Amino acid sequence: MLGLYHCESCNKNYAQKSTLARHIKYECSKLPRFGCGLCSYRGYQKTHVVSHLARKHYLQLKPDINENILIFETSKY
Ligand SMILES: [Zn+2]
Ligand SMILES: [Zn+2]
Repeated sequence: MLGLYHCESCNKNYAQKSTLARHIKYECSKLPRFGCGLCSYRGYQKTHVVSHLARKHYLQLKPDINENILIFETSKY
């Protein structure tokens, strides 16, 4: 599904104007905090990376075992 509303800053598309507005206000101005250890994916919430790992890498996280390897925090930006 192609979005109708386009963020000028990061090229993301959104189906609704309100979603785009929320994105610009809460997401786009902030850097993603969490990153995938296996690829260049970045997420704003840890749960985003967790679901990314499950979808793209077919990995289920085991708390304390692979969480620190597969999810890193990009807090040092
Ligand atoms: Zn954006
Ligand atoms: Zn990944």
